[in-house]
Amino acid sequence: MARRRTGPTDAVRELVYQRDGGRCVRCGSVDRLTVHHRVNRGMGGAREQWINQPPNLLLVCTTCNLWFEDNPRDSYAAGWKVRRPQLPNEVRVLYPGGGLYWLTQDGALSMGVEAGR
Ligand SMILES: [Zn+2]
Repeated sequence: MARRRTGPTDAVRELVYQRDGGRCVRCGSVDRLTVHHRVNRGMGGAREQWINQPPNLLLVCTTCNLWFEDNPRDSYAAGWKVRRPQLPNEVRVLYPGGGLYWLTQDGALSMGVEAGR
């Protein structure tokens, strides 16, 4: 039986890569990049369509991906992680340089006062 694919599609990965400028959103590294889920998968999470959509995904290096797990408090404060029942499009993300942005469904950053949809 084939294992079910649970990650984002290649097209979504490319959107995230372009949106985040090919750099880790925390440290700016261009090496060892991976796609991080702000709201963790698990507990059937992969069945929720937004789990693998751009507002829930960040381009990060593997070092920062581990750092998020070790530093949940700072990660939630910066929007790098999101805690249910909050949804990814309800929490802004801190980017290098100090800007806070909403992540939109179509793979863009928004500085508006309203949550991205
Ligand atoms: Zn990093």
